[in-house]
Amino acid sequence: MRAVGLDFARRLLADRDVAPPPAPGPGEVVFRIRGVGVCGTDRELAAFEIGYPPPGASWLTLGHEAVGEVVAAGDGVAALAPGDWVVPLVRRSCRAGCRWCAAGRRDLCESATCAERGIYGLDGYFCEFALDRAEDLVRVAPELADVAVLVEPLSVIEKAVERLTATHPGEPRTVLVLGAGPIGILAALVLQLRGFEVTVHSLEPVSHPRARLLTSSGVLYCPRLPAKADLVIEATGSGQAAALAVDRLSPNGVCCLLGARGEARFPALRLIVENLAVFGSVNASPAAFRLAAQDLGRLDRKLAASLLRRVSWRAYGESIRTTPGDSIKLVHVFAD
Ligand code: BGC
Repeated sequence: MRAVGLDFARRLLADRDVAPPPAPGPGEVVFRIRGVGVCGTDRELAAFEIGYPPPGASWLTLGHEAVGEVVAAGDGVAALAPGDWVVPLVRRSCRAGCRWCAAGRRDLCESATCAERGIYGLDGYFCEFALDRAEDLVRVAPELADVAVLVEPLSVIEKAVERLTATHPGEPRTVLVLGAGPIGILAALVLQLRGFEVTVHSLEPVSHPRARLLTSSGVLYCPRLPAKADLVIEATGSGQAAALAVDRLSPNGVCCLLGARGEARFPALRLIVENLAVFGSVNASPAAFRLAAQDLGRLDRKLAASLLRRVSWRAYGESIRTTPGDSIKLVHVFAD
């Protein structure tokens, strides 16, 4: 079967034939990949800034945002059957058996040995078929199949939102989201569903399709300096935005960094006297994936679909290297 990935020996993004997965063993499931999304992590991988292949290999199949259709289930798999739609979790519990992985929170793994499919040491889903343990798959309603590739990015937001609200000492009302990429837009939509007053700040003018998409769904969009908020989510990828995120916190506010890179400077005294909290977040728990699959069904369907554009898997060279402008997230599909 065809796979798209990284050749670490030649430092190339390429496609090649790889062996299809074997028949599923006990507890395992084989599924046909129906869509693979691309995000900033794939761009960092393709630039060889992060990631590594499986032990002893020099090839890493990319793809960690995926949706598939079950084609075969092994013995003992009661929850999934051929024809079911599934989204795979990205991270696998660590070999060291750390306390977080043991407690079912692999997303909080504290050892350095947990692997992530398509990123760290395990092949991903940018290929035609994949095999996983049933417990590493989240079932999605068939009517959500065409948007289910959003479950993985949404799961990252669910985890962040849970901690943001748990950390705030009162009842937060206002949220500021920095960045109008897929993560920023999904965060705004989900927080709006939960009844928050949401503003998105990004550099695009108000006439930009992404800004229009947000305002059409009732989210405030502000390309200028936005008002302060109880909760701030940074989803931009820039160090400067991390400092802005902290600057825009109301007293007692909580800020989550999801995309910032580089260094950021915070005024320590203000953090202290205003009881501010800042944390970073990565990956998501199995529970956050399940919540994302539920919340996706509550989002406006046409709006969710308008975040995606399907392209042939052959477009990977361009789609991985360049950030799409108008179309929000590119989803690669194999035949039919
Ligand atoms: C994924 C996370 C993953 C992280 C690793 C993100 O794009 O959503 O699941 O842990 O990349 O860098």
